[in-house]
Amino acid sequence: MILKIKEFFKNLFKKVDKILFPSNIKCLGCGRDLKEKQNIEFCDECFEKLQFIDENKCCRVCGTILKTKNICPHCKEEKRHFDMARSVCVYDKFMADLIAKYKYHNNPYMFKTFAYMLTEKYNLLNINVDVVIPVPITKKRKRERGYNQSLLIAKEFSKQNNLLCLDSVLIKTKDSLHQADLGYSDRQKNILNSFKVENKKQIAGKNVLIIDDVLTTGATTSACAEVLKKANAKNVYVLTVASTNHFNKDEKTAHKNKVIKIANYAKNE
Ligand SMILES: [Zn+2]
Ligand SMILES: [Zn+2]
Repeated sequence: MILKIKEFFKNLFKKVDKILFPSNIKCLGCGRDLKEKQNIEFCDECFEKLQFIDENKCCRVCGTILKTKNICPHCKEEKRHFDMARSVCVYDKFMADLIAKYKYHNNPYMFKTFAYMLTEKYNLLNINVDVVIPVPITKKRKRERGYNQSLLIAKEFSKQNNLLCLDSVLIKTKDSLHQADLGYSDRQKNILNSFKVENKKQIAGKNVLIIDDVLTTGATTSACAEVLKKANAKNVYVLTVASTNHFNKDEKTAHKNKVIKIANYAKNE
């Protein structure tokens, strides 16, 4: 009963809030004023630009976009330590700009919209989750950026879905070489020892959902899943806001260029 009354006042307050303080919420994409408060803060035009990934047209394992529901070549070749990864949108130019704005230009408030987007996707997936864990960053990186972008999203997502968010279990101990410059196997080596698990009891036998902003090759989240499973987590799932499309032509060329770059880098070492 008390809860119901609380809920009633909360809703009432929300309504009053709206009347007394008209929204000056701006679209996260283009900055124009939105007429009213909304969970996902995009104007209609920018919302249209979001390329949502269809659950029937993606890799069963990593969730990358495919023509049909299948297993992508990447997941056929490489061992994935997570049981399933899914992303809300394709990491296209629009999404890349949004994430960069969030991550590198001190706009932490954007976490709310991203969390709501994850919730929408999560509701479509048939998975049992006990605890939520954000992909961690090192203390040094946190000092530089001021916040861990994945932790903000994970906390809000957990609140929206009544789940427990654990932010002191998965720890990043060191920064590795810049991941974007490396291919998959080099990424794997690069990140192998940069994560550790503390307070293992909190995840033993639990189904864990890892949350991050972007899934690129999946090497980082696979490494996170590996250490969590070694610490006796049951199933490990991954949910991210966006995912790069590995299998379009541009990506392939980009990947080839990266491989050449690494080869040159190794030669110069
Ligand atoms: Zn807009
Ligand atoms: Zn895959």
